[in-house]
Amino acid sequence: MEHSICTLGSHSALQILRGAKDEGFKTIVLCKQGTEEVYQQFGVADEIIRMPCFKDLPKHADELIKKKAIIIPHASLIEYTGNDEVMKLKVPYFGNKKVLEWESDRSLQREWLEKSGLKLPEIFASPKDIKKSVIVKFHGAKGGKGYFVARNEADFKAKIVNHPNEKYVIQEYIIGVPMYIHYFYSPLLDEVEIMSFDKRYESNVDSLGRISARDQIALEKVDPSYVIVGNIPLVIRESFLPQVLEMGKRVVAVSKKIAPPGIWGPFCLETILTPEMQFCVFEISARIVAGTNPYVNGSPYTWLRYNEPMSTGRRIAREIKNAIAQKKLPMVIQ
Ligand code: AMP
Repeated sequence: MEHSICTLGSHSALQILRGAKDEGFKTIVLCKQGTEEVYQQFGVADEIIRMPCFKDLPKHADELIKKKAIIIPHASLIEYTGNDEVMKLKVPYFGNKKVLEWESDRSLQREWLEKSGLKLPEIFASPKDIKKSVIVKFHGAKGGKGYFVARNEADFKAKIVNHPNEKYVIQEYIIGVPMYIHYFYSPLLDEVEIMSFDKRYESNVDSLGRISARDQIALEKVDPSYVIVGNIPLVIRESFLPQVLEMGKRVVAVSKKIAPPGIWGPFCLETILTPEMQFCVFEISARIVAGTNPYVNGSPYTWLRYNEPMSTGRRIAREIKNAIAQKKLPMVIQ
């Protein structure tokens, strides 16, 4: 294969690179010095480019273009490189960069999801409006660090003092189970595929239930935090699948209107599934999510469809390979 696949050595790089190799591509990983051993040990990278820090990716653009590399974005790549630099990057990029703006701006993201007819948590414009339990989220908070739950305005005021000058959003706290839905939209097939599901392992919220309420109270100042530390695979009740598929199709259809030609490749709806069996969507990730990492060898759903190991990383490479074979590469890269 003439082209190579590259990404930043973090997040879901192992899966992306392994998937690309399985589809016959050469692979390049851009690593922060000191982290390369992992990529060597797992044998996923044909070439390792070492950088003093992750932010240096744009400095390697010319070299990557010469190597006919196609860059696969993941959350760490976007976070470390920054939206503006990603927009300027000349290296062929898998995905629609226009979607970045809709995803990174909370109000635009909400508009996209609302237009898709999805149920969203209520937003309270001011602490005075808090009528029920809320979760307070900070802009750019890495992995949910610092989020807090508040019962009312007084509780909010007592807790916000620890976060002076930080921008936040006050969102209704939904009681239910978190459910992360991984999709793939193929522009070549014009089809939305259900790839897999996960739930997150978050510290410390996932361990608070290990001590009784009495002991939690005794511990005093233990506020829940939502720092993601891992992902747990999940299979969903089968009767939910038609609804899940419909939700994904609507998000894709609306993206075609707001950011033509729309989203393609992997994306994730981050939901809380309530006992009333309603999916309440609190966020969309418009690219591969780390929740697909448990499925390096495919998920139960991709097994049904492909009858061979098909991770989300490999599915990306397959789409690129098919686009090259059909002389439609411009349809999937920018
Ligand atoms: P986020 O940074 O938006 O992905 O949220 C981090 C974590 O907070 C999620 O994985 C959920 O566990 C929790 N969470 C976020 N939004 C809500 C909500 N509206 N109701 C209940 N839990 C939520």
